[in-house]
Amino acid sequence: MLEIDNLRFTYPQARDARRTAGEDSASAGAIVQANFRIARGRSTALMGGSGCGKSTILNLIAGFLQPQHGEARFDRRSLLGLAPAQRPLTYLFQTHNLFPHLNVRQNIAIGLHPGMRLSAPQNAAVAQVLEWVCLPEFAARNPSSLSGGQQQRVALARCLARCLAGNRPLLLLDEPFNGLDETLRAQMSARILALQKTHSLTVLITTHQPQDAAALQAEVVAM
Ligand code: ADP
Ligand code: MG
Repeated sequence: MLEIDNLRFTYPQARDARRTAGEDSASAGAIVQANFRIARGRSTALMGGSGCGKSTILNLIAGFLQPQHGEARFDRRSLLGLAPAQRPLTYLFQTHNLFPHLNVRQNIAIGLHPGMRLSAPQNAAVAQVLEWVCLPEFAARNPSSLSGGQQQRVALARCLARCLAGNRPLLLLDEPFNGLDETLRAQMSARILALQKTHSLTVLITTHQPQDAAALQAEVVAM
């Protein structure tokens, strides 16, 4: 169970703006806050307009930002004292997911081992996810030679490999299907759903598309 209890964050610039303009001013900076729960093995989709705070919430859960109020627990354990790498999750960032100097296979492998020295089962996981995202023939290519949608699928493949191979029961996906056409969106969501069922993953996704939430059988939280 992922429990997000009144998690609250204001960026320093927004805090300064509130101080200058007064708490009630319409121009005062926004407070990002969230309150929801996701049962183990279930999905939730955070939906809302651009700039409403979806990525901020994922960054708070992943540990790249520290909340000013509230609590985030997974399986009853607070996540807030843990460094990002210690948290039991894998995170697809909205942008800048790939290392430009590594090829596709290495970009996936580095999610499993920082030195990319993989065991036989880990190598099998890399081969499996390359199939899932329909990019096996691109394994030796560099990210700069791929389209935006292909790069997005490599980043997704790294996350899926981590879920497949390791003990990462929580999956955070920030607009994971950007740059993908309808067919690929449907294929990728079917893969995520299948992996979620077999590994009992708890999935938190942000999207603008109601059909993504439906394809993942996700409960919608409007922000
Ligand atoms: P979303 O993902 O829903 O589009 P974000 O979480 O990225 O929204 O941003 C929420 C709000 O916080 C926006 O108003 C945005 O401009 C602001 N914001 C995002 N990142 C920063 C930052 N690093 N510093 C200051 N403000 C930020
Ligand atoms: Mg965002």
